Amino acid sequence: MECVGVGLHSGAPVHLRILPATAGSGIVFRRVDLDGFEVEAVGRNVARVSYATSLMKKGVLISTTEHLLSAFIGTGIDNAIVELDNLELPILDGSARPFVELLHQAGIRRQRRPRTYLRIRRELELREGNKFIAVYPADAYSVSYTINFPHPLIGKETFSLRMQNGNYLDEIAPARTFGSREDERAMRDMGLIRGASRENCIVLTRKGIENPPLRFDDEFVRHKVLDLIGDLALLGKQILGSVVADRAGHAMHTALVSRLLRDRTLWEETTVDEDAATVPLPVHALARQLA
Ligand SMILES: [Zn+2]
Repeated sequence: MECVGVGLHSGAPVHLRILPATAGSGIVFRRVDLDGFEVEAVGRNVARVSYATSLMKKGVLISTTEHLLSAFIGTGIDNAIVELDNLELPILDGSARPFVELLHQAGIRRQRRPRTYLRIRRELELREGNKFIAVYPADAYSVSYTINFPHPLIGKETFSLRMQNGNYLDEIAPARTFGSREDERAMRDMGLIRGASRENCIVLTRKGIENPPLRFDDEFVRHKVLDLIGDLALLGKQILGSVVADRAGHAMHTALVSRLLRDRTLWEETTVDEDAATVPLPVHALARQLA
């Protein structure tokens, strides 16, 4: 399964191909332009985080990983190889929907081995000024996000999602990234959004948006949920826990990942007997991989 696009921040053209991988291997990025150098999508490889989440291993960069990683969690895919021939993933339409469609085209099959979940045992709360992120014990994976953005179309928005029955696909995957016309010049001067266009992000003007319609009235906060799910994918496992974020961003999302990975008393690994379950299963019922 392949697609072609440009990186949002670098503007670099990139081909991306997604291949099946064996159970237990997780998500691995492979730079085919650098002799197939591999960078695992795990917390220890998190590099530089400001406007997007990037991975780095031995100087090799994989930039803007969050939308594709979010699609993997949302479709319940645990193992895959992602080949790319440049340093940044394609932005496509600014959401996770094209990635989800790509994964569905590839075909998804159930793995023999049961999935290992990361079950939160103790709460962890991080604060930074008025930004907040936390995770609490729970039997399923849920995310609740609040943003407060001074714009007539946004203001204070909260969105909560309990991941089940593929609801990610309809409620989160289509939500696009956004940026304001006012910040654009400064960001372009810093070389941050060389690939941005009206086709790949919602462009905010002072009073409205330049490229209507919105896909949801609250598309902005839904996109933050999408980003958060993608960043937390760097834990390397589906989560059993409740995540709450308020005005956080990539840096706080990945700080939560690092803190969790450093402190083994906060969580345990567990499996769920998916065949015997009589209640709705957490997250996605089956550990899955590409066919
Ligand atoms: Zn995003």
